[in-house]
Amino acid sequence: MSSKVSKYPGTEIDLKDIESGKFLSTHYETVLKYDWTSGVAISRFLDGLKQGELWARKCNKCGRIIIPPRMYCEEDFRPTDEWVQVKDTGTVNTFSISYVNNDASRREKPIVVAVVEIDGASPLMGILHLLGEVEPGKVEVGMKVEAVWKPQSEREGAITDILHFRPRR
Ligand SMILES: [Zn+2]
Repeated sequence: MSSKVSKYPGTEIDLKDIESGKFLSTHYETVLKYDWTSGVAISRFLDGLKQGELWARKCNKCGRIIIPPRMYCEEDFRPTDEWVQVKDTGTVNTFSISYVNNDASRREKPIVVAVVEIDGASPLMGILHLLGEVEPGKVEVGMKVEAVWKPQSEREGAITDILHFRPRR
C-alpha cells in the first residue's frame, strides 16, 4: 500500500467462496523428489568402494593424502593433484559405544562407532564407521583394524559396502 494505492485491485476470495464452488479450485499432493550429484571426488570414492578399494586425493603442495577425498586443499587454497589408492586397514582414532538406537530406544547389544585413520592416508584422515567382531569393552584408541567388505556382487558403491572394521588378524 502507498499514499496512492489504498486497496489492492481485484476481488478477494475467501474459503467460503472456494467451498461453495464459486471459483474453480484444484488439489494435488506434492511429490517431492531430490537428486543431487556426489561430486567428482566422492563419485570416484564410491566407485572405488564398489571395487573393494579406498581412493584418496593427494595435494602435492602440502603432501597430504586426503580421505574421504576432496578436490580442493583447504590448507593451501588450491585444487588437489592426484588420486592415490590407500589400504583398507587403519587405526582407531576415537570411538563411541552406543546403547541407544537412532530413535532413542535401548539396544540389546551396543554398537561401536569409530573414526578409523586409514593406512596410506595422512594422520587424522579417516572414515567414520562401525567396529565389529570385537567386544565393546576391548576396543581402544590405537587398535589396528581392517575393513570387512560385503561380497562383491552385493556392493553398490556406498560406504555400507564396508560392513564394519574389525581388529586386524
Ligand atoms: Zn595442500
